[in-house]
Amino acid sequence: MGSSSLLSAVARRLEGKVALITGGASGIGECTAKLFCKHGAKVLIADIQDELAHSVCKHIGPNSASFVRCDVTDESDVRNAVDTAITKYGKLDIMFNNAGIVELANLANIIDFDTADFKKVLDVNVMGSFLGTKHAARVMVPARRGSIINTASVSSITGGVTPHAYTCSKHALVGLTRNTAVDLGRWGIRVNCVSPYIVPTPMSKGFYPVDKDGNAIDVYSNLKGAILKAEDVAEAVLYLGSDDSKYVSGHNLVVDGGYSIVNTGFSMFD
Ligand code: NAD
Repeated sequence: MGSSSLLSAVARRLEGKVALITGGASGIGECTAKLFCKHGAKVLIADIQDELAHSVCKHIGPNSASFVRCDVTDESDVRNAVDTAITKYGKLDIMFNNAGIVELANLANIIDFDTADFKKVLDVNVMGSFLGTKHAARVMVPARRGSIINTASVSSITGGVTPHAYTCSKHALVGLTRNTAVDLGRWGIRVNCVSPYIVPTPMSKGFYPVDKDGNAIDVYSNLKGAILKAEDVAEAVLYLGSDDSKYVSGHNLVVDGGYSIVNTGFSMFD
């Protein structure tokens, strides 16, 4: 039984939709690809990790998911990924610009921050989403529909919790989201971003505390009884990609258990 058959037709929220997911070979992108297919979508994974992406597609099932090699910093790769979605599946309903890097090794202060590292992070995180939005719009505008989602971060609305380049890049994605939501709204296309708090994925390895079994422990958020997982972010992306959010555009959907609205230095409830 294919993964899309696991939910009843009524419960499938992306039936008949086609999605392109950058960074879909791992972490949040991989989880979203699996959830999208479970909800009836055809998914094209665009990534630079060929082997991993192929194994994700195999796991999901060849009828629902496929892979196109794509470095999101290379415009011809992004153009080709969008064109592949059209050739293979006939249309593009959802563009999930999710590929990103953090370069956690570079925790330097601004004086010592490596300039090449700064450019590299902005290139993948900002230029990648710009190119993804541009080429998705190219095919969505004539269709007069579509949902574009960017993966930002709590670092899009807070300072000092990630390296300079990463924080700048995620703030920039909110600007890209808002500007393109206004631009593309004229053709019925919605643009939103999702902003997760720390999620245990290969990217954040070493960044969050773990218990003796290697499970993430949330010590920063004030919301008790829940740990953020990639699946929770995928659920937020599913909402933004589906018609359930048909009037939501230009929004930054923060998934952080209230982390960003708490001032740990002062709270009257401490
Ligand atoms: P991940 O490392 O598991 O996945 C990122 C994927 O992006 C990988 O498959 C990688 O191969 C791909 N990628 C990197 N550079 C690429 C490029 N140039 N072209 C195409 N693909 C490329 O990490 P993740 O945590 O799933 O990250 C996904 C997104 O979520 C990123 O944008 C990240 O900034 C964001 N995010 C992550 C966290 C977290 O704590 N993990 C929190 C907030 C936001």
